[in-house]
Amino acid sequence: MARYTEAVCKLCRREGQKLFLKGDRCYTGKCAVTRRESAPGQHGQSRKKKSEYNLQLREKQKTKRYYGMLEKQFHEYYEIAASKPGVTGDNLLQLLELRLDNIVYRLGFGMSRPEARQLLRHGFFTVDGKKVNIPSYRCRAGQVIAVAENCRSNEKIKAVVEANASKPIPKWLDLDRNTLTGRVVALPERADVDLPVEEHLIVELYSK
Ligand code: SF4
Repeated sequence: MARYTEAVCKLCRREGQKLFLKGDRCYTGKCAVTRRESAPGQHGQSRKKKSEYNLQLREKQKTKRYYGMLEKQFHEYYEIAASKPGVTGDNLLQLLELRLDNIVYRLGFGMSRPEARQLLRHGFFTVDGKKVNIPSYRCRAGQVIAVAENCRSNEKIKAVVEANASKPIPKWLDLDRNTLTGRVVALPERADVDLPVEEHLIVELYSK
């Protein structure tokens, strides 16, 4: 599977905001956005007024990077969102939130989405009792996502769960910290997505 392999902090600097791709480090003074606000590269410090296209492009890039996706797959999500009834931008965010790697992260089983994805790919999680290691797996309301029984005593998982003990869980998810089992209690709505994303700009960009 294709994936982004360059230094992820550059992505945050490009977008001018934290995308929280490195777990703990993102909350410390070592965060590259905290230390240097300018975008990377030779022209990173220029302050040109952004065109409408540029605003739309940056919003799309930022959202794509939050969820750790590449262009082709992200565009496919847009196509699916546009084909569904309702508001395309809301549909898009709902599809993104329902990705298994995002749900694992939201449940506090990973310090960042990239870490959640890595654990997932190593077979740490089950969906409705069956091992699933596909980050893009789309969960449905009612499904149960759990740490696989043979991984519950894994030191890495124990450390992550402990570090996230006070992390708030979105209201569309439910978590039993004792059994390390989560459930999708409802489909996420726009108001449930706490990311600073202006999804209408993405829709405007793709629908040109
Ligand atoms: Fe982004 Fe985290 Fe790196 Fe800061 S430390 S630049 S938030 S990935």
